Amino acid sequence: MQLQKPDGTIIVNNDWGIIKDLSPYPYTLMHLVFLNLADDRVGQHTLAEIMLKHCDNYPTTKVLFNHEVQSVTQNEDSVTVSGVQTNGEPFSYTASYGVGADGGKSTVRKQLGMTLDGFTWDESYLATNIFYPFETLGYAEANFVVGGGRDWAIVCRTGDKQAPWRCTYGEVSSKEASDEEVYARVPQRLAKYLRGVKYEDVKIEAIARYNVHQRCAKSFRVGRVFLAGDAAHLTQPM
Ligand SMILES: Cc1cc2nc3c(=O)[nH]c(=O)nc-3n(C[C@H](O)[C@H](O)[C@H](O)COP(=O)(O)OP(=O)(O)OC[C@H]3O[C@@H](n4cnc5c(N)ncnc54)[C@H](O)[C@@H]3O)c2cc1C
Repeated sequence: MQLQKPDGTIIVNNDWGIIKDLSPYPYTLMHLVFLNLADDRVGQHTLAEIMLKHCDNYPTTKVLFNHEVQSVTQNEDSVTVSGVQTNGEPFSYTASYGVGADGGKSTVRKQLGMTLDGFTWDESYLATNIFYPFETLGYAEANFVVGGGRDWAIVCRTGDKQAPWRCTYGEVSSKEASDEEVYARVPQRLAKYLRGVKYEDVKIEAIARYNVHQRCAKSFRVGRVFLAGDAAHLTQPM
């Protein structure tokens, strides 16, 4: 992992490989979704596949897709979640405990009467997935590019050598510019990180803008129900 200036000047080079003889864990968990194993990075979708595979090893575990939880009730002994499947069929499950890991807009959290207190930062992030060999532009596998103001970026490979690179940079808040406006200036903003490569010569796989929050539920547990992940807390990742 490196800290670089926009022109490629290296500020810090963090090579976890040098501790490989000293530690069985010569890597860093970088922003959770990019598991930096010296030379490999595991994107969120890959991590989800790995976890899904491990769930198969537990006979008491069943993963159900297409089930939308709409209500959560509990008493002294149990928790019941109910909702509807995408085919319209209702469902209901009762267990000793429940965990709401249903993201920032968590239905489970709302059902518990809990709010996600805090604030939303006055800026947004623009995440792009790009097919281009960024390593040829002087980038390490994972890079924090430190420019002035919103001219910062995270540039890193999202998986194996075939995987796209992620370039995320700072943008203004949605109060200051609409999605259309910030998407229209992506080529211009990316120019700084593409270091001379033309926008037409890279393949953009995905572009997404997202708001950044500093929010947390008052408690991660109400009775027999727990909150986890974004349902419990949202933080700006930089
Ligand atoms: C564009 C973008 C880029 C990001 N980049 C990074 C990054 O580089 N690094 C990083 O660490 N984080 C990043 N994040 C944040 C990261 O994605 C989240 O922190 C993480 O996904 C939270 O995981 P989670 O399991 O708590 O929630 P989620 O990933 O939101 O998963 C919640 C799941 O619950 C399901 N669900 C929701 N409601 C219900 C319901 N009522 N019933 C049943 N199921 C339901 C959803 O379908 C979803 O599958 C990014 C986020 C965005 C939007």
